[in-house]
Amino acid sequence: MATVPTYSLVVPVFNEAENLEVMYRRVAGAMASLGENFELILIDDGSRDTSLQIMQRIHHQDNRVGYISLARNFGHQVAVTAGLQFAQGQAVIVLDADLQDPPELIPDLVAAWRQGYQVVYAQRLSRQRETWLKRVTAYSFYRLINRVADVPIPTDTGDFCLMDRQVVNVLNAMPERNRYLRGLRAWVGFSQTAVTYHRDPRLAGRPKYTFFKSFVLALDGMISLSRVPLKLATYLGLLTALLALGMIGLVLYWRFVYVASPLIGYALITIAVFFLGSVQLISIGILGEYVGRIYEEVKGRPLYTIRQVQGTGQPATPPGPVSNGQPPQPITNPHG
Ligand code: UDP
Ligand code: MG
Repeated sequence: MATVPTYSLVVPVFNEAENLEVMYRRVAGAMASLGENFELILIDDGSRDTSLQIMQRIHHQDNRVGYISLARNFGHQVAVTAGLQFAQGQAVIVLDADLQDPPELIPDLVAAWRQGYQVVYAQRLSRQRETWLKRVTAYSFYRLINRVADVPIPTDTGDFCLMDRQVVNVLNAMPERNRYLRGLRAWVGFSQTAVTYHRDPRLAGRPKYTFFKSFVLALDGMISLSRVPLKLATYLGLLTALLALGMIGLVLYWRFVYVASPLIGYALITIAVFFLGSVQLISIGILGEYVGRIYEEVKGRPLYTIRQVQGTGQPATPPGPVSNGQPPQPITNPHG
């Protein structure tokens, strides 16, 4: 692209063939009202439908649209990370391909950016027609993570946001592989503000996030932002120690004050064994979650691999190992 665009739109796409054309038209319409140049970067996250062909078609119609095709499905957060690395704009806007994030809100995000805010995140007021389970779990998750996270994450925000070039550069330079972006976005600081909106139902197709994927995302967020779960083992240990003391008291009381039944002893022992066993397993499990993520970081593999790139600029240095004293290696030659 010849001139650096003012805005970059980063849109992760996984099997969104039914939505891409409408999404493109609505984005182009919303951007036209701003009257400045923009680039639309579609990241094909290993789609198995015709999404890539549609992207290629849109790219040929409109050279403001570029696409990156990842070599397989790497997940939403990695797809967005790839898009952020290729984005050239002064302001970068991240939105979903299924039109749950209305492009018509972009001028409002831009207005806040023009006022000097460097991160403008869209905060949802409603979740139309999302399942009861999704609403309850999302609600509880945001309340829980804010009790334990090192930095507060604004409630009911997703990845839909505008970020200033300076913020995107910082995110691109962050080496970690566990990319819970709304957490990293909160962590980096800068002047942040919210713009509220009503979250629409998905235009077409089924959600690509299964309940399990959402659970994994929540766990990633929790663990990347907080060490409280690690301390949980200590607290549980203290609690069981107290309980054990209580039980000693109880047994002594029964032995000397009451005439005890021998069966009570068995029951106490069984309960104690099960209780301690579960506390230990939970604690080991928590350790495992952290150790597993340390292992991921240490391996230092590229975050994603690319099959094809069309119509975007050169990527920023991708996140990679920095601790081994060598500069991060580029992932692939995007134009090769
Ligand atoms: N997505 C992706 N890779 C995945 C899953 C989802 O790029 O492995 C994209 C998807 O195409 C959509 C966005 O991420 O543009 C959000 O996904 P979805 O709508 O399924 O999530 P939800 O809105 O239900 O949280
Ligand atoms: Mg969606």
